[in-house]
Amino acid sequence: MKKVFVLGSTGSIGINALSVLQNLHKKYKVVGITGHSNSNLLAQQIKMINPKYVVITDKKAQLKIKESFRTKKVMSGAEGLEKALALSSPDIVVNAIWGTAGVNASIIAVKHCRVLALANKESMVVAGQLLSASARKYDCSIIPIDSEHSAVFQALLAGNRKEVRRIILTASGGPLRCLTKKALNSVKPEQALNHPVWSMGKRITIDSATMMNKALEMIEARYLFGLQPEQIEVIVHPESIVHSIVEFCDSSMIAQMSVPDMRVAIQFALTYPERHQNQVKPLDLTQIKKLTFLPIDEEKFPALTLGKKVLKMGGSAGAVVTTANEVAAEAFLAGKIRFPQIVEIVDKVLDSHRLIKHPDIKYLNWVQRWAHEKAYGFVLTSIHSKQRRKR
Ligand code: NAD
Ligand code: MG
Repeated sequence: MKKVFVLGSTGSIGINALSVLQNLHKKYKVVGITGHSNSNLLAQQIKMINPKYVVITDKKAQLKIKESFRTKKVMSGAEGLEKALALSSPDIVVNAIWGTAGVNASIIAVKHCRVLALANKESMVVAGQLLSASARKYDCSIIPIDSEHSAVFQALLAGNRKEVRRIILTASGGPLRCLTKKALNSVKPEQALNHPVWSMGKRITIDSATMMNKALEMIEARYLFGLQPEQIEVIVHPESIVHSIVEFCDSSMIAQMSVPDMRVAIQFALTYPERHQNQVKPLDLTQIKKLTFLPIDEEKFPALTLGKKVLKMGGSAGAVVTTANEVAAEAFLAGKIRFPQIVEIVDKVLDSHRLIKHPDIKYLNWVQRWAHEKAYGFVLTSIHSKQRRKR
């Protein structure tokens, strides 16, 4: 029986991970879960799975769960997580925490498990160098859950790492792909949240609309697979059937295809190197009929240009961009800035930053706080100038 600890069990990926694990219940057991503030869902999950350990970050939610489950080991914060992982010694940790909040969790997790099944792309974007080195030190494999990276991981099994010429990450293009540059200026949050193919958490859907998600995924790929910046390309593929492609030195391309359902990637990260039956609908290519591939319009979606810049910079640039993007996307959702300003603000924060090539975790934590304040400052400046124009 393999022991699994699911971080961020109340989120979109976390819920899917628990459903996959239920399907695999004869071989896998959930020993712990973590959540932030959704105490109702956490309570339901505790009743359903009966995990030995529960770690909660939000104080109010923690009190509620402690009251309802007096015999459970309910812990809190980074210390609580470290303790719960040390006591439960899981084989696999699934990190499905949202955003930069999940980075430190990955750094803790690699010390306590054999496999880190990683959905939290920010871990690699912010701390790719450090996390990879730490995983090697503690003999922990990092297996991606992000669908494009799972596709690359699966396609890489067809050859040798030295034989890889390039990888091509596919992008659905998000909900705003067909709008003009002018129309993007007046996009409302509801439009940006309406993803045509994938059903995901709110924030990653906004990142998909700006294409910042793909920019982050380029950086994630660089550290996950040890690639050079020029080996990573992106193309638009609106059907989201081909999840990514690896091109080898003999010009063979190996792609991974499936219906767009995160349970495929989640399950493969859990069962690798084995494959198991699941409840995902098989792909009927005759129904789909045609698959489309298009170049990305970087004029309309400058996040991709920004992503390439960060890829080349390396070091602390990933941490700055991820954090600034969280602040700017949140400000857009709150109606404080316009849609194109998300990427503009991230770019401005990156330009104000002095690059450190090999940052340690202390510096990365500091620079994230700095980027947060800086981005917030740009949001405030934009609000003030809008108010001045109105007067
Ligand atoms: P989500 O917002 O639905 O859920 C996030 C989880 O993180 C929840 O359990 C929440 O309780 C927890 N969390 C939030 N803030 C926290 C904090 N401060 N401390 C600790 N826990 C906190 O997010 P999601 O869409 O499931 O995405 C999770 C991760 O997976 C992200 O990094 C995302 O980029 C990545 N990802 C998601 C998808 C998808 O289909 N949703 C696909 C690929 C990659
Ligand atoms: Mg993805």
